[in-house]
Amino acid sequence: MARQLAAAAKTKSGHPLSAENCTECGDEIPQKRREHVPGCQYCTGCQALNEKGRL
Ligand SMILES: [Zn+2]
Repeated sequence: MARQLAAAAKTKSGHPLSAENCTECGDEIPQKRREHVPGCQYCTGCQALNEKGRL
């Protein structure tokens, strides 16, 4: 339990840390997307592919 909480709290603000660049293709992730999707690791394109299970 405590371990899960510690893993979720990656930043002092309490939000999971969002990647500045897409983990898949390296493209910059727009600030708006990072704010809208806390903890996102992919750009919109790669996220869409990821959700389709193609990555
Ligand atoms: Zn990408």
